[in-house]
Amino acid sequence: MKRGRIAGLVAIVATILILVAASPWPVWRIALAVLIAAAVLRLGYAMISGLAQPVPEPPEEGELRKVKLTYRCSICGAEVRMTAAASEDPEPPRHCLEDMDLVAPIT
Ligand SMILES: [Zn+2]
Repeated sequence: MKRGRIAGLVAIVATILILVAASPWPVWRIALAVLIAAAVLRLGYAMISGLAQPVPEPPEEGELRKVKLTYRCSICGAEVRMTAAASEDPEPPRHCLEDMDLVAPIT
């Protein structure tokens, strides 16, 4: 541990001791409050770091299968062609909030 870190820790502990000595509440209530605060902070940090997991990388271009699939939107009629997918039978894309219909696999 570095000297500056130890000095900072000593300053924090001294401040806490002075505040505890000067406060009108009993020590066990302050200790309980500190414990609850630490638990809440740790829980919040764990929840936020769980949300911060990065999205997995897409597979390399060589690992993708070449496909030629045409999909049509049953609502507005838009058509798209899928040229590469992770599997031979990929999930259809969505358009107008609906799954698109497979028109014809061109092989
Ligand atoms: Zn559409």
